[in-house]
Amino acid sequence: MSKVKIPFVSLYTEETEKLLDPVLKEIRSAVQNSQFILSPKVSAFENRFKDVVGTRYAVGVNSGLDALILSLRSLGVGPGDEVITTPNSFLGSAGAIDLVGARTVFVDVRDDFNMDPQSLKSALTPKTKAVMPVHLTGNPCPMDQIADLCATKNIAILEDAAQAIGAKYLDKAVGSWGRVNAFSLHPLKNFHVWGDGGMITTDDQKIYENLILQRNHGLKNRDESEFFSYNSRLDSIQAIVGLALIETLDRVNEKRRKNAVFYRERLKHLSPQVKLPIVDDAKAYAVYHVFQLRVQKREALTQFLMEKGIETKVHYPIPIHLQTAAKHLGYKQGDFPVCERLSSEILSVPVRENLLESEIHEVCDAIDQFYRESK
Ligand SMILES: *Cc1c(COP(=O)(O)O)cnc(C)c1O
Repeated sequence: MSKVKIPFVSLYTEETEKLLDPVLKEIRSAVQNSQFILSPKVSAFENRFKDVVGTRYAVGVNSGLDALILSLRSLGVGPGDEVITTPNSFLGSAGAIDLVGARTVFVDVRDDFNMDPQSLKSALTPKTKAVMPVHLTGNPCPMDQIADLCATKNIAILEDAAQAIGAKYLDKAVGSWGRVNAFSLHPLKNFHVWGDGGMITTDDQKIYENLILQRNHGLKNRDESEFFSYNSRLDSIQAIVGLALIETLDRVNEKRRKNAVFYRERLKHLSPQVKLPIVDDAKAYAVYHVFQLRVQKREALTQFLMEKGIETKVHYPIPIHLQTAAKHLGYKQGDFPVCERLSSEILSVPVRENLLESEIHEVCDAIDQFYRESK
């Protein structure tokens, strides 16, 4: 193994370093005042978050997975219901549906990695209670078409916006299209806290009130509970971190978009061996949680880049419908041909906000060299 020169992830950025002292000062004060659980910092962070997304409410929870689970429950999704999503996501999207006792119905994606509205249309049944589009890689789904399809049948939309905070479709932020929407604040996401966390957004007051109870033992006040529920509160200390880091979000996303432009310019001549991510720039503001290529000879290319110290990843090598965890759903190889083909072609190269222009050139030079030499 050669030494990693250009790591895929590098979280301790200049922005983080600048925020470290002010954040630690706030944390010190929280500790001195014993403000650990649901402190005013949590509400302040929720307020800031809802303004960024443009919804009436935001509710902080423990993780992205909890955000999805509590959202599904707030829609009344449970046993006997079907929820439609895509099989090439992170496990948590389908996992949440399973964990509330509903049935996951997968539909295939298009070459842009996102839900195909045509497949969605043919998968709707009288049991469909909700549709969960995943804005994979930070590229927004065609929300106008998905919203139209759901509106005619009064089916709720729950956006899995875990990879896409700050992304917009038709100038409307992701996480503001659905009836209720989930974000993850995991350290690998473009905007994150220093640990686990999640956020739910909604315009619906009833859903909001339900979520506030759901995340805290069903408690409507100190002593009275409406129903048994989880403890899925966002840590006050993480809310302090979130309040500081959210101010960097626009810069982070802009830098990632700029990196994507460089990659596109440098790699476009390599088609069809290397295909660039498909983004409908006229409608979509993508935030490049990852920059995912579709490549020929992936294993050899990965090895070649690794030998040059360039780290890459695959998001994700095993489609969810082929995971052991999904066995009971009864899907098999061949059910989602586009997703399955993509899983063997995709390769994510570093696109993080602290990547240097010279490093992008290094990655592109190496990819170029690989295809020249492997002809
Ligand atoms: C990260 C992620 C999640 C889960 O978030 P956690 O905070 O890790 O629980 C769910 N869905 C997608 C698409 C994700 O990328």
